[in-house]
Amino acid sequence: MEKVLDLYNKKSKSLCFYLKESKNPFMLLKWSKHFILNLASNEAFLEDDIQNSADYLFPDFKLKLLQVLEKYSENFPSDVPAFFETFRSNKRQFFLFQTGKTKIKSYGMHYYGIAADLVNFKNNLVRWTLNYDEIIRLAKLNGLTSLRPYEDCHLQFIPVESQNAWRSFARNLTICIQDLVNVKTDGIIGPHTFGQILTNYKRLEHYFYETERTLSKELNNA
Ligand SMILES: [Zn+2]
Repeated sequence: MEKVLDLYNKKSKSLCFYLKESKNPFMLLKWSKHFILNLASNEAFLEDDIQNSADYLFPDFKLKLLQVLEKYSENFPSDVPAFFETFRSNKRQFFLFQTGKTKIKSYGMHYYGIAADLVNFKNNLVRWTLNYDEIIRLAKLNGLTSLRPYEDCHLQFIPVESQNAWRSFARNLTICIQDLVNVKTDGIIGPHTFGQILTNYKRLEHYFYETERTLSKELNNA
């Protein structure tokens, strides 16, 4: 019989601790769950292929993006707006950096499932021919961020000035999870941490569930 181990934090603070320090704890909890249980446990996470599935996107971000695309399609019915890239692994990010296609070496917003690049997929051809003025206008109305003038096709969930805070929360989350699954707490999800996340998947689901309960209790009593 399998021995059931409850996960608990030994060296790091609990996820609840980091969430309570943040401005938007419930949104970040939802994102943490998405990042660990949908991204950092998916084989695409350590590969270098381009990914365009909307399933990789943080649900709150995906919802807003789909609203943008729906409105866009009403206004430009002959275009076929589509995702060119959603999740991007650090391996691919570094490859793009080495080939001079980006200034970001690693940990871009695509890595966290909170950025997407949009193209026109009319006649099954990938073209950068959407009306990006309109895309960006609709994105702003939905609270999303564009990187214009650097990039027209890229939209993201958070403003540029929030990126470092997001990275730092994500690093704390990673350390917390590494502590739970008993691997070196270096804040980097490599093959070893990845494997342990998979092995402990059910227990991590339970940890997130318990975190949500504790957070609701503590914040509602505050
Ligand atoms: Zn992008």
